[in-house]
Amino acid sequence: SALYRIEGWGAPYFSVNESGNIAVRPYGTDTLAHQEIDLLKIVKKVSDPKSVGGLGLQFPLIVRVPDVLKNRLESLNSAFESAIQAQGYESHYQGVYPVKCNQDRFVVEDIVKFGSPFRFGLEAGSKPELLLAMSCLCKGNPEALLVCNGFKDAEYIFLALLARKLALNTVIVLEEEEEVNLVIEISKKLSVRPVIGVRAKLRTKHSGHFGSTSGEKGKFGLTTTQILRVVKKLQDSGMLDCLQLLHFHIGSQIPSTALLQAGVGEAAQIYSELVRLGAGMKVIDIGGGLGIDYDGSKSGNSDLSVSYGLQEYASAVVNAIRFVCDRKSIKHPIICSESGRAIVSHHSILIFEAISASAPTAMNPVDLSFILEGLSEDARADCRNLMQAAVSHESENCLVYADQLKQRCVDRFREGTLGIEQLAAVDGLCDLVSKMVDASEPISTYHVNLSIFTSIPDFWSIGQVFPIVPIHRLDERPDVRGVLSDLTCDSDGKIDKFIGGETSLPLHELEGNGSGGGANAGYYLGMFLGGAYQESLGGLHNLFGGPSVVSVSQSDGPHSFVVTRAVPGPSCGDVLRVMQHEPELMFNTLKHRAEEFCGQDHGEEGTYATLVSTIARSFHNMPYLVLASPCSLTA
Ligand code: PLP
Repeated sequence: SALYRIEGWGAPYFSVNESGNIAVRPYGTDTLAHQEIDLLKIVKKVSDPKSVGGLGLQFPLIVRVPDVLKNRLESLNSAFESAIQAQGYESHYQGVYPVKCNQDRFVVEDIVKFGSPFRFGLEAGSKPELLLAMSCLCKGNPEALLVCNGFKDAEYIFLALLARKLALNTVIVLEEEEEVNLVIEISKKLSVRPVIGVRAKLRTKHSGHFGSTSGEKGKFGLTTTQILRVVKKLQDSGMLDCLQLLHFHIGSQIPSTALLQAGVGEAAQIYSELVRLGAGMKVIDIGGGLGIDYDGSKSGNSDLSVSYGLQEYASAVVNAIRFVCDRKSIKHPIICSESGRAIVSHHSILIFEAISASAPTAMNPVDLSFILEGLSEDARADCRNLMQAAVSHESENCLVYADQLKQRCVDRFREGTLGIEQLAAVDGLCDLVSKMVDASEPISTYHVNLSIFTSIPDFWSIGQVFPIVPIHRLDERPDVRGVLSDLTCDSDGKIDKFIGGETSLPLHELEGNGSGGGANAGYYLGMFLGGAYQESLGGLHNLFGGPSVVSVSQSDGPHSFVVTRAVPGPSCGDVLRVMQHEPELMFNTLKHRAEEFCGQDHGEEGTYATLVSTIARSFHNMPYLVLASPCSLTA
């Protein structure tokens, strides 16, 4: 497991058990040894056609562990609780979950349920997100906040004010100065006293990728001048008491507590100034940014790593706010954070299969006399020089002559004066030479039953690296180094960057698999820490839809678990519908065509029926490859 740095990024939820499989510890450090769940057993169970009510789920597969979600919420709250106790802070913490990180119904409902004892609320950034937050919070703690961020039109503000009428603790956070006019106007019309927040554009700048919208020139929030104009407008309307919350967000993945304290400290100064100006301030909302240590290095050196844990984060926040408020002798505000990544990343594991591996050594035997036969005089000279350089171990010259030879042959092939067999033979010779000269380890390509665009979109779009590890055979030495190539017809559909700055991953030989052949005993890889953003950002490139999803909880017996929910991924018909195609009409068109060309009179007996049922099944099945039954696996 050291090869994959599991102790670094996986603690306290993932480890390797004595069978060499990844074990999930649903309650983090509170998990007892017999409560660990073996991921491979989950995979076997839910993909077995006889299991999960005869569903036999297809891959790729997301395994959700709601208890991990619960543990994240409890850990975050207890980190703030400890910091508050230790520092004598005279108010409390109550966070909100930004639903954009993962809007899955059951994820949001679980967060509301598990967060209820801590008054945990939700953050919405658009009208549909607001609708879902409103309906979910009807079952939450009545004090839980519903923070309304994002750009707003009259309808958004209407809805948010309506939410207050429904006794939901809603705060409209102004992201644009003009929004204040709409809030004043509509709240008067509806006779609702709004609770207003303002998002400040801080000068503290987070220099990583996720901080590109922070700082004075950032995309979001109000400048100090704009904040002062909003205060004046609210005062003139007799509504300054409605301004109760100050929000800021300096970016996701804040790398260090030093930067965090600088941002929180600056915001606390603005908060205290708003108190001085007569606003009814109660809450400081520090946004998201609580980071994940994706590579387990705790270095804080890149977007991949942060140098603190939950406790250090909470202590730094409480300390920075307390320091400013005590100096200004103002009441300690309620602390709210909008942590998304830190809450949902761990609870979801993406499992996918390797289909086949192409070894880099696959090469044609080289027949030198055959090659020499058809070559021009120049090319023969290259060949002779190449041999000479090889005998004298002049690696660089070898490569120069091989390149030259290849180029001459390609030119002649283009002219039509060299046959394809000879071009292939020259390619083989050049491959052999470069392999002899290149002393580095050969890299295999493992083809995986996955779309990176759908399931790991941040890898493709912003180069975000996630820990990827085989979920079994971790007691065997992985003898191969490989990159992963997905099912899409796109050269970007490959993963060739891994944690630790590696450009390949240690992998095991596929069992029962010749080079390029299909695996007959599954090889399963897991992508970890991807519960935030990946599901909500994924697209439909090549019309590969989302994965199947199961939710799993620990159950009474030792090492046993129950599958509490199992949902097959979208079918071909489902993904076609997203792009406005109508699968029912398409099926009828194809059925009529089959009748016309393969009906009783034309085709062999049974052809028509087989054709139509195959078409029907294709609409019904997921777009991914259906491989050998994982029942053949040895757990
Ligand atoms: N709040 C706001 C306003 C955001 O823009 C974001 C995401 O960037 C978040 C909260 C969530 O941040 P994180 O996932 O880093 O917790």
